Amino acid sequence: MPAPALIFASNSDDPVAWGAALRALMPELEVRVWPETGRVEDVVAALVWRHPDGALNAFPNLKLVVNLGAGVDPIFADPHLPRNIPIVRLVDPELTRGMTEYVVLHVLALHRRLPELAEAQRAARWHYIHPADTRRTRVGLMGLGNLGGHAADMLARIGFQVSGWSRTPKQVAGVDCFHGRDQLPAFLKDCDIVVCLLPLTAATENLIDAGVFAHMRDGTAFVNAGRGRVVVDDALLAALDSGRVRHAVLDVFRDEPLPADHRYWRHPRVTMTPHNATAGYPETAAPQIVDNIRRVLAGQAPVNVVDRAAGY
Ligand code: NDP
Repeated sequence: MPAPALIFASNSDDPVAWGAALRALMPELEVRVWPETGRVEDVVAALVWRHPDGALNAFPNLKLVVNLGAGVDPIFADPHLPRNIPIVRLVDPELTRGMTEYVVLHVLALHRRLPELAEAQRAARWHYIHPADTRRTRVGLMGLGNLGGHAADMLARIGFQVSGWSRTPKQVAGVDCFHGRDQLPAFLKDCDIVVCLLPLTAATENLIDAGVFAHMRDGTAFVNAGRGRVVVDDALLAALDSGRVRHAVLDVFRDEPLPADHRYWRHPRVTMTPHNATAGYPETAAPQIVDNIRRVLAGQAPVNVVDRAAGY
C-alpha cells in the first residue's frame, strides 16, 4: 500500500514549514507541492489557499480538503470544487489568540479614545478626556463563532458588558446573545463599540449597510476584522462623516490591497491595518489537520467541516 500523500497548493504559505509540521506528527505522510502531483492516486488530502480552479479534480482518492485559513470564502471561488468531499477549515488556537489580541488592542484604544488623543498631541493641545466607565461600556460582537466567542470571553473578563450576534441561537456565559436579522436592531442599539467577525457568505455580503448603521447609537466605534465585503463602504463613509460612527478600525477590505485612491486611506477617523489581524502557524494548526487526515483514512467524519449551504 503506497504512503498517503497530501497536495499543498498555496502561493502565500511556506510548503517547507507546513510539510515539516505535518510530517513531525505523521511521518508516513508524503507532502507534494502543486503542480508536482506525483502519482495522483496516492493523494488523500489537499491543503489549499486560493488553489487553481479545478485543481482538486485531479485526485481520484481525495478524501479531505483543508482550507489554509479560518475564512473559507476563497475556496468557493473554484467553480469546479469537488462536490462530495468534506471541506474543513483551520481552527488554530494561535490564530484565535492572535485575533483576540487584535480585538482587545483596538477595543481598548477606542474605549480610551487614543485616536482623539493622538490628534490632540499632534496639535500640542491638552485635551482632557475623562476615562469612560468600562463597566458601563458595551462591546458587541457580530459573529460569535470560534473567533468572536473567544474575543467575547476576554472582553467580558476585562470588565466590559458584552453582546454577541450570530445566525443561530446561542448561550454564552457573560454574553448577551442575539441572533438573526430580526434581533440585529436590538443587538446594535446598546453597543458603544461594534466588532465584526463575520464570515463572507451570500447572507453576509453587504450586510452592514446604511440601515445597519442607522440602528447604531450616535458615536459608536466600529471594528471590522471579518471580511471587507460584509460592509458597504459608502455607507460606512457616510456614517463616519455624519458622526454616527466616531471611528472605524479596518483590517479587511472589499479589494485587497486597497486601491491608493480609496477614501479610507486618508480619512481622519479611520485606522487601517493590512489584513494582518492574525495568522495561523504550521506547528499549532498541524495537529488538527493530521487528526482529520487520520479520521478520513479510518472512515470517520472529520471535524470543523464547512457547511456548504451556509457558506462557512
Ligand atoms: P466561525 O464559523 O466559527 O463563526 C462565524 C460566526 O458568524 C458564527 O457565530 C455564525 O453564527 C456567524 N454568522 C455567520 N453567518 C451569519 C449571518 N448570516 N448572520 C449572523 N451571524 C452569522 O468563524 P470564525 O469565528 O473562525 O471566523 C470568522 C471570520 O473571521 C472568518 O470567516 C474570516 O472571514 C475572518 N477572519 C479574519 C482574519 C483576519 O486576519 N482579519 C483571520 C481569520 C479569520 P452561528 O454561530 O449561528 O453559526
